[in-house]
Amino acid sequence: MSSILNTDVIVLSRKETGDSGFYLKALSPDLGLIDINARGVKKQGAKNSPASQLFACSRMSLSLSKGRYYIDSSTVTKVFYPLRLDIRLFSLASYFAQAIIGLTTENQTARDIYRLLANSLYMLSERGSDPEFIRFIFQMRFMGDIGFLPGLLGCDVCYETHPVMYFSIETGRLFCREHIPADMPLREVSASMVEALRYVCLSPIEKVFSFRLSDRARDALAALSEDYLIYHTERKFDTLDFYKNMSHE
Ligand SMILES: [Zn+2]
Repeated sequence: MSSILNTDVIVLSRKETGDSGFYLKALSPDLGLIDINARGVKKQGAKNSPASQLFACSRMSLSLSKGRYYIDSSTVTKVFYPLRLDIRLFSLASYFAQAIIGLTTENQTARDIYRLLANSLYMLSERGSDPEFIRFIFQMRFMGDIGFLPGLLGCDVCYETHPVMYFSIETGRLFCREHIPADMPLREVSASMVEALRYVCLSPIEKVFSFRLSDRARDALAALSEDYLIYHTERKFDTLDFYKNMSHE
């Protein structure tokens, strides 16, 4: 007995199998992180081949049999083609995928993370996109989605927001100059950077990319959100290292 499920899917990674197919790791808003056995998709003209491409976004009918998903049919909705042409964008998208694979619970609904990923890939593949801006948004919003929402309403002691504030990577809290705790390493952030952090963490997902930042604030926040993610998840991402090396060349 098998049952058919219809769901949206983005392919995060794929591994070759012996039978001219792939094992896919994919993200579905309804099913979360799932493994899909995409049989025979490497054969010429295979109907599910386009949906089995890396980062392809599609509507799939999946059958579940003995704990595994198989593709019954698929309709590609987005291919994010520019990501395949630019190694820097490709490596950043791969980092997003690696973070989701490493830090998301399997088989648990993932609507927010799915929309964040879909929007991030869409923004990355737009002409003239700003990868560092998108990286900051992905990292910060993702942390909120997996349970590490920082406290951003104001200073953790007096609740006020001053023109210069201090963010603790360790605790995810803000402090004003007057209430800086002893022995806590802090990152200086301007009021507009605090505003950007709040916006990215707390706005509805469809609005999360629509604001502007100076290059300086963007670079500082990309680094801050990266450090926040790495510190709390205790992971290393070779795709991120690769992306950063490409960015400095
Ligand atoms: Zn204070």
